[in-house]
Amino acid sequence: MSFDSGCMRHITSPLAGCLLAASVLAGRHYFPEYFQVIARFESALLFLAGLIAGIRLPDIDLALPGFSHRSGITHSCLLAVLPLMFNLPFIAGGLALGIALHLSSDIQPKSWSGGALIKFPILGSIGMFSPLWILLNIVGCFVVLFHTLPQEHETGRWAILAVMLTGGGWYFLNEEKKRLFPLMTLAFSLLLVHQYRSGQLSVEIVIQYFA
Ligand SMILES: [Zn+2]
Repeated sequence: MSFDSGCMRHITSPLAGCLLAASVLAGRHYFPEYFQVIARFESALLFLAGLIAGIRLPDIDLALPGFSHRSGITHSCLLAVLPLMFNLPFIAGGLALGIALHLSSDIQPKSWSGGALIKFPILGSIGMFSPLWILLNIVGCFVVLFHTLPQEHETGRWAILAVMLTGGGWYFLNEEKKRLFPLMTLAFSLLLVHQYRSGQLSVEIVIQYFA
């Protein structure tokens, strides 16, 4: 994503995601009785929080001292792996989708030079390996997303699908100018969640998608 919009969305949207996740988690902890009403949608709300944060999170490198823009550390699937370590699979799933959308947008620059390239501290720019790095990390995001699915039952997965559709729709209407790769990413993610049933993925249909 470019930063020509000149605003602070790389900070505000991760913050908004954190606030939503924190209020859901705090609600569960402090108001357990009241919380039962929204407990059915807890996973979808946490997924939404991850998605809101994830779409902008890689560009947080703009605000971090010592990071060059398009840092390989923030433009990676690792940030989606982190919540898994704290047993927050749905935040991880939402982050994974958000980061995958962001990276799908970043993989189609006008040219692979300057600001489009991935950079690491000390190493500097990885040059022509940048598209490969981004592609590998999109795949990594899919792995994280897939990893979170076994933890939710049928109803919750439908709620997550609804969040993916509306969140994705909003993203494409308001944010994304070059839609091809992000749309493919969103479509594949939807397919992944939709095809996942009772611990299994109907692989034939996923293969058909690519054939
Ligand atoms: Zn970016």
